[in-house]
Amino acid sequence: MNNSSPTSKRRISILGATGSIGRNTLDIMNHLGGRDAFEVPAITGMGNIELLAEQARQTGAGFAVTADPGRYADLKAALAGSGIETGAGPAALIEAGARNTDLLIAGIVGIAGLAPTLAAAANGADIALANKECLVSAGDLFTAAITRGGGKLLPVDSEHNAIFQVLEEDQRHAVERIILTASGGPFRDFTREQMAAVTPEVAAAHPNWSMGIKISIDSASMFNKALEMIEARHLFGVKPEQIEVIVHPQSIIHSMVGYSDGSVLAQLGAPDMRHAIGYAISHPRRANLPIERLDFARLARLDFFAPDENRFPALGLARTAMQRGGLQGAVLNGAKECALEAFIAGQVGFLEMADIVATTMDKLDDGRMAQTIDDVYAADRDARDVANTAIAGAARRAV
Ligand code: NAD
Ligand code: MG
Repeated sequence: MNNSSPTSKRRISILGATGSIGRNTLDIMNHLGGRDAFEVPAITGMGNIELLAEQARQTGAGFAVTADPGRYADLKAALAGSGIETGAGPAALIEAGARNTDLLIAGIVGIAGLAPTLAAAANGADIALANKECLVSAGDLFTAAITRGGGKLLPVDSEHNAIFQVLEEDQRHAVERIILTASGGPFRDFTREQMAAVTPEVAAAHPNWSMGIKISIDSASMFNKALEMIEARHLFGVKPEQIEVIVHPQSIIHSMVGYSDGSVLAQLGAPDMRHAIGYAISHPRRANLPIERLDFARLARLDFFAPDENRFPALGLARTAMQRGGLQGAVLNGAKECALEAFIAGQVGFLEMADIVATTMDKLDDGRMAQTIDDVYAADRDARDVANTAIAGAARRAV
């Protein structure tokens, strides 16, 4: 952590403050003392200017940024007279990330969050990472950037947060497997025929977790779990074959670590993202958090099933990407972001998303390695070009 605060308050900047992770973060910060405990050097949002302005005023933020340059005038007007600096567009997002802070909550969705998060890392901030696409796309370059800056990487994704809690630092050599739990989403028991016909509205309705629309649909297709497998590989330095996925519909066990003596350590809790966020904010201590306590007698049972990779091909694609290595994580993510947007826009069907990603990964399987972050952006752009061509083909066939 560099450039210490002039006051004793903890400084927390929030990328994606208006989203599900961002709103939960502000809720936990309020619970932990609000403006008496925290300063907010910067917060960002995109289309919901009214909420962004309200959050900026409530937290007394130093700098408020919308990712959409077309909304700059609205944000400026909404914060007129507040003394809060405003900005818009990609350069302002990076500046928001680079403002001196102790902790950055990376809560943007997609690769759009990579540049501002890297700016915070370069400035020595600790990174509480929800924005898993940073790790999936940039992999070890991303973790190396945080290490170089001197900050800590604190996983906020509930599975990785769980693993972080039960991974004994001095027993890393004895880690045999990482077991990621998955709820199975709303289509756990659907046939492929039923899945082919689902709409974005149905796919976005997650049974256990309340999240943004993109991650909710990714949960339904298990692309979210696919991203999380790659995320786990980079976070915990394990081999692809050490990462297992188990469907656990109740979402009470958030993930597990299996050790070489046969012992399995699990982290359990109510499915509430505020736990992982509160844990990251309070680390290395545990705070008193307003999370529902588990009542085991009422829970009565926990179920587990092996995932069906025929209906959820995303899991196999993650394994392929990890085995191929290089820039395939960035390619998988870029193609998936395009396919997801096309599904939301009604251009392709639910199952076609995996076909588009598989085609793109095969076309761009050229063994290229990521030397710099620019290579990651180039791979992301190439993936989007190839995926968009596949999407246009799929849309033509559907007419
Ligand atoms: P969300 O859609 O609710 O919010 C996304 C935020 O990012 C919003 O503030 C939005 O304004 C901003 N944003 C969107 N597109 C942007 C762009 N192109 N440039 C800059 N800002 C942009 O999403 P979310 O559910 O809060 O998820 C955020 C991240 O956290 C994702 O990577 C997701 O996978 C991860 N995550 C979320 C949850 C959850 O419970 N919501 C759980 C685990 C991990
Ligand atoms: Mg998760």
